[in-house]
Amino acid sequence: MFKSSITILRISGIPIRIHVSFLLILAFLTYAIGQNIQSIANLAGVNVGDLTVNPYGLGLILTILLFVSVTFHELAHSFVARRQGMTIRSITLMLLGGVAQMEEDIDESGEMMMALAGPLFSFVFGIALLLSLRVLVPFIGPDTHLVIYYLGVINIFLAVFNMLPAFPSDGGRILRSLIARRVPYLKATRIATNIGKGFAVLFAIFGFLTGNLLLILIAFFIYVGASQEYQLNVIRDVFSGFEVADVMSDEVSTVRADDSVSTLLRRMMDERHSGYPVVNDSGDVVGCVTLGDVRAMPQELAGEKRIRDIMSSELITVQPHDDLYQAFKKLSSADIGRLMVLDADGGLRGILTRSDIMKVYRIKALQEEQSRFEG
Ligand code: ZN
Repeated sequence: MFKSSITILRISGIPIRIHVSFLLILAFLTYAIGQNIQSIANLAGVNVGDLTVNPYGLGLILTILLFVSVTFHELAHSFVARRQGMTIRSITLMLLGGVAQMEEDIDESGEMMMALAGPLFSFVFGIALLLSLRVLVPFIGPDTHLVIYYLGVINIFLAVFNMLPAFPSDGGRILRSLIARRVPYLKATRIATNIGKGFAVLFAIFGFLTGNLLLILIAFFIYVGASQEYQLNVIRDVFSGFEVADVMSDEVSTVRADDSVSTLLRRMMDERHSGYPVVNDSGDVVGCVTLGDVRAMPQELAGEKRIRDIMSSELITVQPHDDLYQAFKKLSSADIGRLMVLDADGGLRGILTRSDIMKVYRIKALQEEQSRFEG
């Protein structure tokens, strides 16, 4: 999802990245502000005739400062998260604001503080800017006046907008932490998600009625975001307490790197497997080979090519005692069908496929059945 973004700078070790969609909004807002400079100046209490900077120049400055504000907002979240021991991978600026990517999920007690930090910063910063105008006005020109005024308004808007209880927004996360004090976390997530979806529907209806396209877009993102976040929580809840060794397939047939590709094809046909770990003469895993690798090479070479010529040697591995949820995330983010399970000294212990992971649901259902029977 974030591959189409580039890093523009680092702040205290956190890469700040911009997404391609950001360039669209940059152009759009610059244009929109330039077009409406008259009414924007009126609201700020500035006479439009006194402005010296070109309206589109002001539009560009304001838009860039808007995203600087969003970056500050995300940094506020990130610094609090860091204090709670989280690792922040990056901050990405995109179409509708910013996203801070964290290495792991934050725990329940830390979430409230982290969610509050962003809006609180934006609010205080916005108020401070507006108050500073009272002092500064005699000393600054109309252009600076307009910019400071709007920067203040934008930051207060950021605070208010993010505090709407439209999960997964900041306000939605705070609401979830509050609900989670009374009911189990997953149920709290479900309630917060439904409230978030309710808001999304309201936004969408209001957007359609007023012809506000941006509101409809926001509604869409909230709806999808709420559903995804809930799904992740369900999965995390189901997986908790399981490790890789609980569900991996430990009978693994391997192929040898020096075998010919035609031998591999026969094995695939006989055993109905579409992928194998590849081992060398001393039994160490050196790669993996799939039907896709075979298909990618000209058929007539199958007799002379060795498996080592076509295998991929980039191994994505887990260890038997790794947390199953982390393994699942690894599998999804690498977009591959199987992970190799190696023990600490590199010996092949098993293989973990998507269908292995799905066994968890059956085990979980059985456990619940059993506890109902006993209880
Ligand atoms: Zn936020």
